[in-house]
Amino acid sequence: MSRQRSLMERIRHWMSWGLHGAMTCEEFEAGLVDYLDGTLSPIDRHRINLHTRLCSHCRRYLRAYDKARRLAGDTIRYSDEQALMSVPEDLVQAILAARQEDSADTRR
Ligand SMILES: [Zn+2]
Repeated sequence: MSRQRSLMERIRHWMSWGLHGAMTCEEFEAGLVDYLDGTLSPIDRHRINLHTRLCSHCRRYLRAYDKARRLAGDTIRYSDEQALMSVPEDLVQAILAARQEDSADTRR
């Protein structure tokens, strides 16, 4: 019973937020890129923040999306030289050793 009542309270809470300008999950997704770029108006930014607090699904989505964006950004920012410099030395040595073994095999 208390679980049911708390669900009804939550629904009422969500509806009251809806009446006061909270957004739907679809609106949240549509504004997400601008939110992360920092180009949203202060009001829309506030609405996204509110939705993030109220909706665990979108909170997880925001975290995953932000992480993926940062990883993609790192990849784009890296020049080829920087990318090569970030490859661990033991991996480079293992690749070189494997190539030498390969070419030794084909010469036999
Ligand atoms: Zn949502």
